Amino acid sequence: HAKDAGRNVIRFFDPVMQTAIENRAALENDLHTALEERQFELFYQIQVDRDGRAEGAEVLLRWRHPQRGLVSPAQFIPLAEDTGLIVPIGEWVLDTVCAQIAKWQGEQRNLVIAVNVSAKQFRQSNFVELVQQIIQRHQVSPALLKLELTESLVLDNIQDTIDKMKVLKAFGVSFSMDDFGTGYSSLSYLKQLPLDQIKIDQSFVRDIATDKTDLVMVKTIVDLGVNFEMDVIAEGVESEVQLGLLKQCGCSRFQGYLFSKPVPVEAFELLIKGDTVGQA
Ligand code: C2E
Ligand code: MG
Ligand code: MG
Ligand code: MG
Repeated sequence: HAKDAGRNVIRFFDPVMQTAIENRAALENDLHTALEERQFELFYQIQVDRDGRAEGAEVLLRWRHPQRGLVSPAQFIPLAEDTGLIVPIGEWVLDTVCAQIAKWQGEQRNLVIAVNVSAKQFRQSNFVELVQQIIQRHQVSPALLKLELTESLVLDNIQDTIDKMKVLKAFGVSFSMDDFGTGYSSLSYLKQLPLDQIKIDQSFVRDIATDKTDLVMVKTIVDLGVNFEMDVIAEGVESEVQLGLLKQCGCSRFQGYLFSKPVPVEAFELLIKGDTVGQA
């Protein structure tokens, strides 16, 4: 009986929830060995300018689970955060990305590669040194690495955020604010952050053609970015109609299925060979 269980014991009797919890526990268990078993892969999603020219890419982590197939980051990143595994996983991502940048650098392809950084990873006391060491080890230009931070990460400890961003920024790394508009944005902190870019969340792009509020939101974010001398990229661009409206709003960079889904590195290299992507 729930009564007998005591106040601080949570009892699960919902079979759906029970399954979800067991599933989570199993995934967590597998996550511990995923790195050494080399089950992670990096996918690249192209980012284009107003003329449709490739100017960079976002790196998106994929977990190829031996039984489950590809597991979405939406499922395992929160787990990796909770367990602290995001720290070694995040280091692997940065190291692998910089190795790739070094290769492209040698081929005279100067694409800026954006990497998602999680809160726990960013808060590590050695995060700045780690990024610098990885960049130096691979001898890549820091200008080719962009770090994507979220609003919640930034706001969680604004002073630590600013301190770390400033050092890395002086080192040459650039910063983008991911999922912009979904968090508790405030103009006062935006001004303090050495950001190079804001990224309009895909939730505003999705209904931009039908929802006036979203269109106004996008226009406002773009104006904000322009006034603060940051470039503005829209994510989740899936249609020509959305692209047209985003351009009308003054948006300067675009990412989404209209141009390409995130793809393995070999497919990405084929994609950028053509340079111009989509009908933009
Ligand atoms: P995010 O950084 O906001 O990444 C954008 C997400 O939107 C990606 O989902 C991408 O595949 C998806 N997407 C791109 N274009 C479109 C489009 O046109 N339509 C739609 N509907 N979706 C689009 P994904 O790859 O599942 O990643 C989900 C989230 O997982 C990311 O959101 C990011 O927060 C996190 N993540 C991914 N890779 C990493 C990583 O290496 N480290 C950390 N810490 N987090 C990561
Ligand atoms: Mg991102
Ligand atoms: Mg995003
Ligand atoms: Mg997101």
